[in-house]
Amino acid sequence: MRWSRLHIPTLRDDPAEAEVVSHKLLLRAGYVRQLSAGLYCYLYLAKRSLHKVEQIVREEMDRIGAQEIYTPELHPAEIWKESGRWDAIGGDMFRLKDRWGREHCLGMTEEEVVTFIARGELRSYKQLPQIWYQIQAKFRDEPRPKSGLMRVRRFTMKDSYTFDMDKAGLDAAYDRHHAAYCRIFDRCGLQYLPVEAHSGPMGGSESCEFMVPSPAGEDWIVECPESGYRANLEKAVTEPRPPEAPDPCGDAGPEEFPTPGRKTIEEVAAFDGQPASSHIKSLLMVAGNRPLMVLLRGDDQLNELKLAQRLEGELARPAHPEEIRGCLGAGAGYIGPVGADGLELLADSALEGRRNMVAGANKDGFHLRGVTPGRDFTAGYSDLREAREGDSDVESGSPVRCRKAIEVGHIFKLGDKYSKSMGLSVLNEQGRSVTPVMGSYGIGIERILTGAIEQGHDEAGMALPASIAPFEAVVTPVNVKNDAQRKVAEVLYDQMGRLGVDVLLDDRYERAGVKFKDADLIGIPYRVTVGRRVSDGLVELSERKTKRSENVTIGKLAAMLKRRIADAMPKAGAGGSA
Ligand code: ATP
Ligand code: MG
Repeated sequence: MRWSRLHIPTLRDDPAEAEVVSHKLLLRAGYVRQLSAGLYCYLYLAKRSLHKVEQIVREEMDRIGAQEIYTPELHPAEIWKESGRWDAIGGDMFRLKDRWGREHCLGMTEEEVVTFIARGELRSYKQLPQIWYQIQAKFRDEPRPKSGLMRVRRFTMKDSYTFDMDKAGLDAAYDRHHAAYCRIFDRCGLQYLPVEAHSGPMGGSESCEFMVPSPAGEDWIVECPESGYRANLEKAVTEPRPPEAPDPCGDAGPEEFPTPGRKTIEEVAAFDGQPASSHIKSLLMVAGNRPLMVLLRGDDQLNELKLAQRLEGELARPAHPEEIRGCLGAGAGYIGPVGADGLELLADSALEGRRNMVAGANKDGFHLRGVTPGRDFTAGYSDLREAREGDSDVESGSPVRCRKAIEVGHIFKLGDKYSKSMGLSVLNEQGRSVTPVMGSYGIGIERILTGAIEQGHDEAGMALPASIAPFEAVVTPVNVKNDAQRKVAEVLYDQMGRLGVDVLLDDRYERAGVKFKDADLIGIPYRVTVGRRVSDGLVELSERKTKRSENVTIGKLAAMLKRRIADAMPKAGAGGSA
């Protein structure tokens, strides 16, 4: 390709609207242009790079025996109603009606569609197992589309689905996907972490997220270097930190004291001189129509996912101010568990065994001290708090640390949720009807590119791995008007092309400085500079990532570069773990 004929609209300055590095660079390097919130047009460079990502994904999926299929992005509502997700999924789903008034949605994931196909096709154990995948657009009406391609409303997902006769089959399919994902992320040159996440007693299914550590990420990983424990913050289970002060002695029982105008834990703590960890945080929640009180240590936060698990999947919302007053006779800042016995009380396990704490008195302007869980109120205990940096690891007891990360992939053992609700069954060897078990596995194609940019950039621009950069090399004649330089550049461009190097010729009538800047910005791993030294038979080879340059004999350049690129190509199994 000749640069002079391409549309690569690089920008000199950082676009004001972009916050994270990958967003800035994707705009500056002319990869993408925004159409509207969360909707991006991919220009030539983005398309080339994403195409390479897709090809790696395709090769590794094919390697585990997965079959590529295609299903429409537009789904009839009926199948989503069968699985129960038409109602269960809220605003994230784009819904629309066709000209006959029939309801449809834009696919955000495809369990319903593949189960629909499977139930019409699969009859016998002899047809199982199956692995089906596609690389296709997904639509999600994200509440906060942001960070460029990281969280968008239309993105490309590789999604695959497995059908097996039994749990052992599902386990094998899941393990095969795990291995394929490691190969994919290795080959894309990412530093990543598989983060095991058990979804707990509900359904007993297992899932693992693949995380790319980066300050631009929206997820947090909790990890213990000592035990090797790693989990998404949403699911992480830790031991609580010791309270900042020991519990006071004495058995006097709850005693009311005035706390006028002090509503938050911090305000009350500053007022009564007790640290936040000696206070009980009381939250009135509503699950369905049922109010319930959630109790946490004052310095902990509620993990809503854990609460939902505790409520067997039911989502609870914070009660409105009128509901709180109606139920407990006080404003949100003054409620507490003592005297709230009519309510179901769900306490975080960090409160178990504590004594003489401070809690709201269910009376405006008052709190109680001397509140002892178990004696002054009865609650059910479970892990409801969000893990925090400095908590102890359950296994090793060492402190855990938290890191931000980008989720690039997710593999999930679904079990029979969809096969059962949508009536997929096959006959086993004995001729009995059984329900196959399924797995679901996703990769965000754009998130691989954004993750690679977040992990590979400097002040000059992107420094992409050779496997997913839009081009592997660029040949840059310093002065196109100079016959000797132009001719050598053309010859090298030609030779490299014949050797299978994905090469770009920067034949623009631009100043050399502009051309170098652009090549650095768009992230091409190697640059061959054809300058004055051609008269000595030499050109310069520079590596984008290390900024190292060397002079190379013209005749040796093409073969040498071909070898360099092959060596630099990130390889599966090379251990990209962060
Ligand atoms: P997130 O927690 O980031 O919203 P998710 O759990 O909803 O992700 P999945 O449903 O597991 O994501 O989708 C599979 C993959 O698709 C994710 O691992 C991620 O790489 C990608 N992905 C999901 N949502 C988006 C989005 N809005 N924009 C870009 N990629 C996305
Ligand atoms: Mg999501």
